[in-house]
Amino acid sequence: MTRSITILGATGSVGGSTLDLIRRGRADWRVEALTANSQVEELAVLAREFGAKLAVVGEDARLPALREALAGSGIEAAAGGTALTEAAARPADITVAAIVGCAGLAPTMAAIARGGTVALANKEALVSAGAVMTAAVARHGATLLPVDSEHNAIFQCLAGNSSDDVRSITLTASGGPFRSWDAARIASATPAEAVAHPNWDMGAKISVDSATMFNKGLELIEAHHLFPVGLDRLKIVVHPQSVIHSMVEYRDGSTLAQLGPADMRVPIASCLAWPQRMATPMPPLDLARIGNLSFEAPDEQRFPATRIAREAAEAGGAAPAILNAANEVAVAAFLAGQIGFSDIAVTVERMLSRLNHLPAPSSLEEVLGLDTQTRKYTAEMIGNR
Ligand code: NDP
Repeated sequence: MTRSITILGATGSVGGSTLDLIRRGRADWRVEALTANSQVEELAVLAREFGAKLAVVGEDARLPALREALAGSGIEAAAGGTALTEAAARPADITVAAIVGCAGLAPTMAAIARGGTVALANKEALVSAGAVMTAAVARHGATLLPVDSEHNAIFQCLAGNSSDDVRSITLTASGGPFRSWDAARIASATPAEAVAHPNWDMGAKISVDSATMFNKGLELIEAHHLFPVGLDRLKIVVHPQSVIHSMVEYRDGSTLAQLGPADMRVPIASCLAWPQRMATPMPPLDLARIGNLSFEAPDEQRFPATRIAREAAEAGGAAPAILNAANEVAVAAFLAGQIGFSDIAVTVERMLSRLNHLPAPSSLEEVLGLDTQTRKYTAEMIGNR
């Protein structure tokens, strides 16, 4: 049976991995809508290849270029934030939410409001909206499937078990490209060094997040919402080989883990086929060749991000959205050469303490307002340095 799919963020790393799987099973899928932000040519090529009904670009000014690139194809073209949200609201059997950053929140919420199945890669949306998003999922009867490899692993390890029996959930972290660097070297890391992840091929923002460990911090908050077993039961362990993607320990002493290659097509396939399985082009796991799996505790002196994120999760309220927005602005400033690598965590922590009086957002509009406000203050703080 053919299934329909919409991919928000189709031109990105997760979007590309998703489309690679669709390409391999072309007859099983009908592509409803594909979206991008500014990469018009890439979007048009994909929309034509997959026969999408609709292609949407985030930047309004790119609409004429998109129309031109799609001329004669019969594919509908649209642009802007409202068009992204409308694309997400169109009926589809599954929507892959793979826009990077809080920019993906409103479209993701639109897909949830439709009561559909949403494969969520866009962790920043869940971190910012938190209870607002999980309440919407429950209210609209939507299904949220975690794409993030760690959360997908946990989701698989929890299947068929009661969360009452969970003793702890352990998120694994590769440790990023600076895992073995000393503090002085980390402080002078360049954007090129930060995006060169040892195990995963990802977009620039999440690659920097992996280097700072804010990625694991965001994932801790993401896990807190997806698997509400209590923050004290969520742990992080550094596992440089990225073979075990996360683990669940039960009260009888059994620990279940999900293993696989460091390739996002595996967790994406798990979501696309859920509750069944589908084939991927991954070679079989060869543990004898891998040889060793090692583990170490996170070093929160050199990488304070996980501590900052845990404190934000404990504080709740507005803190996670502030953390996310400040981090997004700081990462962009680092990539633009405006601040140093270690300034990212310093900036986030300062914004959290400066804005800790702000109330918890209770609607999508309030989350977006808080996000805008935090971005403004963070940009000002960076500009004043
Ligand atoms: P990329 O930067 O590779 O791609 C981002 C996508 O979002 C692109 O299609 C981009 O369009 C679009 N986009 C960017 N900004 C906007 C905006 N303001 N409005 C609308 N669309 C926008 O990111 P990744 O694929 O690496 O990551 C996507 C999400 O998935 C992130 O939240 C990330 O944390 C998460 N994730 C990623 C993993 C990975 O392996 N890459 C693993 C686990 C989670 P354009 O190309 O036109 O700029």
